[in-house]
Amino acid sequence: MNTLISARNALALLRDGNSRFVADIRSRDTLPSRARRIDLAAGQQPFAAVLGCSDSRVPVEIVFDQGLGDLFVIRVAGNIVAPSLVGSVEFAAEHFGTRLVVVLGHSDCGAIVATLEQLQRPKENQSRNLKSIVDLVRPSVEDLLATDHKFDLKQLVHQAVRANIRASVNHLRHGSEVIEHLIHNDGLLVVGAEYSLQTGVVDFFDGVPGDD
Ligand SMILES: [Zn+2]
Repeated sequence: MNTLISARNALALLRDGNSRFVADIRSRDTLPSRARRIDLAAGQQPFAAVLGCSDSRVPVEIVFDQGLGDLFVIRVAGNIVAPSLVGSVEFAAEHFGTRLVVVLGHSDCGAIVATLEQLQRPKENQSRNLKSIVDLVRPSVEDLLATDHKFDLKQLVHQAVRANIRASVNHLRHGSEVIEHLIHNDGLLVVGAEYSLQTGVVDFFDGVPGDD
């Protein structure tokens, strides 16, 4: 079983790694190597699971300066939560003892912008598959269109990105008996974070112990 890295320690590792990334420093320990690959062939103990967006500018291992075997990464446009994605998180938590789960959204997310556009100017010919993503983002951003934020596109997108991250965090916390059990009995933590495309900084803004 895992040499269990607690959620708090895992969070510290991610914060340190992101600070290195922002400072343009790479840790030698995280460089891929033949030796590390061979070690890991026997088994993995990723210390965090990250549900991130598919955006090419937010590669999870790179923005947290982590290496082979460190992170269990799930990526989907708009970092939405659907059953297979909940299942992936359950798998990491149950099989590898991973105790930190991060939903990682990012500034100017295309999936969020597309959802806002679809809500404001609906397109009839949107594909069914793309619609399945928009439909999952929609509830968390819809309410914002009824506020003054709708007059300021930049603010609207910013608030919508955060609302969507919070919704995914919430869905993971309450959409699975397995995860709920691990939260209450085994120290599992689900947090939400936003990556800034401009600065490279990851802001852990939802569910972090001590600074809620
Ligand atoms: Zn995105």
